[in-house]
Amino acid sequence: MDFLKPRLHRMNRRRRIYEGKAKVLYEGPEPGTLVQHFKDDATAFNAKKHEVIEGKGVLNNRISEYIFLRLNEIGVPTHFMRRINMREQLIREVEIIPLEVVVRNVAAGSLSTRLGIEEGTQLPRSIIEFYYKNDALNDPMVSEEHITAFGWASPQEIDDVMALAIRVNDFLTGLFLGVGIRLVDFKIECGRLWEGDNMRIVVADEISPDSCRLWDVKSNEKMDKDRFRKDLGGMIEAYTEVARRLGVIQEGESALAAAGPRLVK
Ligand code: UDP
Repeated sequence: MDFLKPRLHRMNRRRRIYEGKAKVLYEGPEPGTLVQHFKDDATAFNAKKHEVIEGKGVLNNRISEYIFLRLNEIGVPTHFMRRINMREQLIREVEIIPLEVVVRNVAAGSLSTRLGIEEGTQLPRSIIEFYYKNDALNDPMVSEEHITAFGWASPQEIDDVMALAIRVNDFLTGLFLGVGIRLVDFKIECGRLWEGDNMRIVVADEISPDSCRLWDVKSNEKMDKDRFRKDLGGMIEAYTEVARRLGVIQEGESALAAAGPRLVK
């Protein structure tokens, strides 16, 4: 089995720092950097539901790259540096704040269930919610009181996180509306980026149809992970359509075709 050795060696070249449900983080080429790898795994209901959806990682890598690039351009700081290949991007290493920050414009999902507000109802204003990132506890919703009392973030950091969340929401709402998509809600994660003795809060993780609710403006058709959560089918087609409308992939191009060499006929 000696012939396997070089290959195994190559695969283990990079140290794996963290493996999540849909992504893996590897040690980056320079100190302070990481490689974020997008897998094809789709999970829901705290990973009780799991499937491999071929091509999803490639699409999320491209869509998230596009969104983070645009955010960086308008001065919203993020961890994103550059895309490396079809499934990977180079990011700055940050200290993740253990919160899922959800911004909602339209009632859906857990808000509809919890408060009995019909899905699709426009909210009187955008609402920010915090969930404590903890799979064992099922990511419980928490208030600013819990966050400061347990030291997950300081009051100043919460202010910074909320300001970022609002800027991302304003920007993304316009970006998606311009391509006929309603931004119902989304989740971001933030991290502390250390530059010498200075620290600033930046947007981290990913922004993709896995972490947003996106509805077609005309048909109200779901173009996000709810297609998987609710067994609606057509998840890859929907993600591909989001990527096409954003101009991330070209008309006629599929994520899988983009993922590897293309046959020249
Ligand atoms: N969300 C996410 N990761 C999570 C939970 C929620 O990306 O672990 C996103 C979800 O895709 C939606 C928004 O956050 O865009 C609000 O989700 P909600 O609280 O309604 O929870 P869900 O219905 O997904 O359980």
